[in-house]
Amino acid sequence: MPRKKLTGNSGNRYVEDASMKELDQIRAPLYRELEKLSKDSSYQRGKESHLCCTRKYNQMRISPVEARSIARAFRKDPRLRGRLPAVLERLEKALEGLSDNGERQSFDCPLLENSKCMVHGVAKPIGCLAWHPRQYSDPEGEYGFTPRGWTAFAARDRLNDKYHGGDWKLRVIPLWLKRVFSRELKHRPKSADSANQGDGTGPGGRRRRRR
Ligand code: SF4
Repeated sequence: MPRKKLTGNSGNRYVEDASMKELDQIRAPLYRELEKLSKDSSYQRGKESHLCCTRKYNQMRISPVEARSIARAFRKDPRLRGRLPAVLERLEKALEGLSDNGERQSFDCPLLENSKCMVHGVAKPIGCLAWHPRQYSDPEGEYGFTPRGWTAFAARDRLNDKYHGGDWKLRVIPLWLKRVFSRELKHRPKSADSANQGDGTGPGGRRRRRR
């Protein structure tokens, strides 16, 4: 029996708090795994680490609970909130190349800024946390998900079932961001140079090539 559903942008605060806590518990072992693996000197073998977040390599899909976690991080953290105009600008650009469905599609992640994932440590999607070079994941591919990642996916799916009653879809990251930031997208000033709003770091924060 699903719990009370998360609805609308605000949802039910108590239910949302509970779902976020459970999601954090699912993510915790993956953060520990990432920290451990990335200390290994052979981890990236000279590869640019954030290429995985760019269109050429990125088709990462997330669930509604993960999308809400990202929106919540932007709500709670003033530093992230200040960068939201720049994220929305990149989001609109990313959406231009996407069809609104649950398929895997290529995109530049709007959350990649200054070669870093903006939500690392607070709301990073499970797939992004569990995606590692072949020596730790899938010997048949260049990259893949670790066994811990697959366990986390199963727990994440159960969590979404619990709060969305099975009526939910995986979608590529921009398609879920479009939903959780729908109000902000609607009211975004189209003519403003949003990259220069927020914390004032300006367009220098828009390189997308590296982690
Ligand atoms: S959420 Fe972060 S790690 Fe995942 S694709 Fe976007 S920038 Fe990269």
